Amino acid sequence: MTTTNQFQSVGQQIKPENWTYAGSYIYFRYPDGEDGYETESELDVDFELMGITNKHNQIDWVNNFHEQNNNCSCCNHKIKRGMFFVEKGNVPNVIYVGFDCGNNILQYTFDVSGAKKQTMIERKRRLTQIKITEVLDANAGLEDSLAVNDTIVRDIAAKFYNTGILSDKQISFIGSLAERRKQFESIATEFVEGKVKDKFKVLSCKGYICDYSNSTKYKLLLENVNGHWKAYGNLSTMLEVGSEINASGTFVKSDKDPLFGFFKRLRVVI
Ligand SMILES: [Zn+2]
Repeated sequence: MTTTNQFQSVGQQIKPENWTYAGSYIYFRYPDGEDGYETESELDVDFELMGITNKHNQIDWVNNFHEQNNNCSCCNHKIKRGMFFVEKGNVPNVIYVGFDCGNNILQYTFDVSGAKKQTMIERKRRLTQIKITEVLDANAGLEDSLAVNDTIVRDIAAKFYNTGILSDKQISFIGSLAERRKQFESIATEFVEGKVKDKFKVLSCKGYICDYSNSTKYKLLLENVNGHWKAYGNLSTMLEVGSEINASGTFVKSDKDPLFGFFKRLRVVI
């Protein structure tokens, strides 16, 4: 079939019962981050209903539609967003109408505010994308630094990729964290899982009241002296920060960091 996009102008003589909703078109603009605007659109049509089943014809139809300066088939005003309707029993006939005419004349309930909201969300997403690109382009090495395996960096990166906002302070902070992590990765060996008996350095030891036993326990961060990998867990005795201990326990690697993990049943060998 021929794929024509010359939507017929039917004026306001439309009988709603003769037309079936076939899709919508939404157009919006957003600043391109320099001095102009980009345009973006979303076209969502039911080709099956419009009788255009051939893939190539569908592409032709979309291209034709975009090339046109479309007018509303009801009121003949130029429109940038609207709805498509197919004539019942006369499938090649498609009309394109603005949301107001669609709602008022064709009596089709289209969620205009929902569509506007969706458009604003999409627009915001694209603006965020522009901001992200600008920040990454202006700071060499930042993208690599944001990708390093570090809890704090991961946190800041997630917020940045969500909002496009990153302060100069954060950028230099991330740079130093990334540098620290790279140095750590260059000296650390792979985390050892299972039953381990080895020498560890106490990096931190913080007391807390255990709810179950109502006794004081300690949250312990250990560094394996030879491998430099780190592990976190509990112990019922306090250890001096900075001291080196011989200990045995069961070690499990973290899902997020191959150089970090957790221990259970730690025994300190004196
Ligand atoms: Zn109209």
